[in-house]
This record gives sequence, structure tokens and C-alpha cells, in this order.
Amino acid sequence: MIFSRTSPGPNDAPVETAVEEDLKRDQVEKSCIICGHLFVTERASIMGREWTLSDKCDACFATLAKAVEEKDSKLQSELRARRFEELCPSLYRSPELRAAAPLDKMKLVREAVASGKGIFAYGESGMFKTTCVWLGAVQWLVHKGKRVECVSGSEIRTRSAEARNKLDAYLAPLIAAPWLFIDDLGQGAMTDAYSDVLLQIAEGRMSESRPVIITTQFDREALAARFTTPETGKAVVRRLSLLANPIQF
Ligand SMILES: [Zn+2]
Repeated sequence: MIFSRTSPGPNDAPVETAVEEDLKRDQVEKSCIICGHLFVTERASIMGREWTLSDKCDACFATLAKAVEEKDSKLQSELRARRFEELCPSLYRSPELRAAAPLDKMKLVREAVASGKGIFAYGESGMFKTTCVWLGAVQWLVHKGKRVECVSGSEIRTRSAEARNKLDAYLAPLIAAPWLFIDDLGQGAMTDAYSDVLLQIAEGRMSESRPVIITTQFDREALAARFTTPETGKAVVRRLSLLANPIQF
């Protein structure tokens, strides 16, 4: 309530009932501080102090509110563009790669994330998987204000050798982020620790149905076969299949 006061100021009545008895309200005509036209607003007075509800007419208020909103959304899209630049390596933002990336695949990855689905982008290297995912999917998500964690498979492998508490702190955001992008999964030698960590990520994300975006040179069977034990490989790939739609490059 705009006219009620919970704590008394120096000139106010010390008890609430006194304030209420002294409160007077009416409607007054005021001239708008922006356009100068007369408009009707509410006036209240307590113990000789006066307030009016508004100093602008409805039309001027609406125009002002719209201008603020437009400025906010422009600022927001600038911030999101900057956030994407921080996330995405400059290589993938180069005009050359953007021009070379296949538009049909770009469209497929965009459609997948726009409908809330993850992506399992697989195919030989040099087919623009990573470029399409960065420019078609991740950029779109960031511009929509979604949080995306982006890592490479080799980074996860390196971190999987760390001590348990450090590793847990590293993995927590990868499991909790609304979107996770793992680039080049399955490259290099698999280790027991790396396999276990991938299972932990897949398990954690599956429990909340959080989509995953993956690029890899291996199809799902070949990826599963790379794990140190076939059971872990199958378990990871089965979970990833539920969180990511296959798109062949
Ligand atoms: Zn006005």
C-alpha cells in the first residue's frame, strides 16, 4: 500500500490508529510533468503531508514504460551476444566457417534444441559437426537466455584423474546445468576414471531429463565399444540416447 506506513517517521503520529484517523484521500486533477495535459489521480494527506499517486498521465507512463522495456531488451541481447563470444572459441565464430557450415545440418541442430531436445552429432571429422553445434544450437540457446555448460571430452578425461572433492566440484555444474555441450566425445584413450565420470554425468542428467549436446566421431555402438568395460559403455550410451537425438554428419 502506497499510503500506509509501517514505521513512523519523525513527523508522523506515533500510533497507527492516529494515522488512520488522520488519513484523507480524494481525487485531484494534476498536469502531467511530461505532456502537461490535465489528468486525474488520487491524493492522500496525513497530518498535513500530501502525496499524489502519479505525476504522469497514463499515456505518458505507458510510453515511458515501453521505452525502458526496449532499452532493457536491447541491453539484454547485447549481454547475451557477449556471453556467447566468451563461451565459443573464436575459430568457430569466423565468417569462413560460418559460410562453409552445411545449412541443412545447422537447421537440424537448431530445430532439435528449439524443441528442447539434445543432440548426438556424429560423423567423420571435417563435416562441421562442432561448427554447426556452436552456431546452430549453442548460440541460439544463449540468445534465448539458457545456461549452457560447454566442455570437451578431453577436458573431462583430464579432470577425471583429480581428487574426489575437486572432481565433484567440477562435475556439479556439468550435471546441474540446463544444457550441457560435450565436444569431441570419445577421442583419445578411455580410462576407468573417465568412463566412470561419463556415467556419473549421464546418470545425473538423466535423473532430471536434462538434455545433452554431443559431437563425436563415433556412432553410438562404436562409442560404447570404446569404454574400458562394455557394461559402462552401454550404460552411458543408453542414457545419452534418451537425452540426445542422433544427427548424422
Ligand atoms: Zn502526459
